[in-house]
Amino acid sequence: MSILSDIKETVTGIGGILTGLSITLRHIFRKPATVQFPEEKRPMPERFRGSIVLTRDPDGAERCVACYLCSGACPVDCISMAAAEAENGRRYAAWFRINFARCILCGLCAEACPTLAIQMAPEMIPSKRQVIDWVYEKEDLLIDGTGKDPNYNFYRHAGIGVVSPRGGNPGEQPPVDVRTLLP
Ligand code: SF4
Ligand code: SF4
Repeated sequence: MSILSDIKETVTGIGGILTGLSITLRHIFRKPATVQFPEEKRPMPERFRGSIVLTRDPDGAERCVACYLCSGACPVDCISMAAAEAENGRRYAAWFRINFARCILCGLCAEACPTLAIQMAPEMIPSKRQVIDWVYEKEDLLIDGTGKDPNYNFYRHAGIGVVSPRGGNPGEQPPVDVRTLLP
């Protein structure tokens, strides 16, 4: 091996080291990409599915009418509830429970909900040591706000009051007796 090729190899080696050092130096002065989670949290996109909440309508009433659709749509069967009826005839959930230890945050419950009561929220559920702590009750899930659709009120869209019997509301036609339609 000639002296010339030795010198060439040395220069190439030093060049490689200097390139590596320059990359290191460049990154030393960059803002770090890491955050000190969980003390420090990154703002997540609005559509990120991190947890589930139960929302209220614009008048502050609970949106959930305990129709069980979210429970039926859930692929892992982790939503349970019991329906009750208020004095004005409206249904509500006497209790409502989600087992987050089973939930896969797929969002199907929120898709199924006709009243927009159950919604996916971007805040992540903090980790727990005990499995029982992953079971959230209605009081843990119900928030004071309206969530993603601030103006939606199911009863204003459904239109018909539920206090009077069918056909007994102002301007409502009596129900059709289907037997009168038989040939
Ligand atoms: S996000 Fe999916 S798995 Fe979780 S409660 Fe809703 S439907 Fe069930
Ligand atoms: S959250 Fe929605 S889908 Fe589930 S029971 Fe209540 S109203 Fe029905």
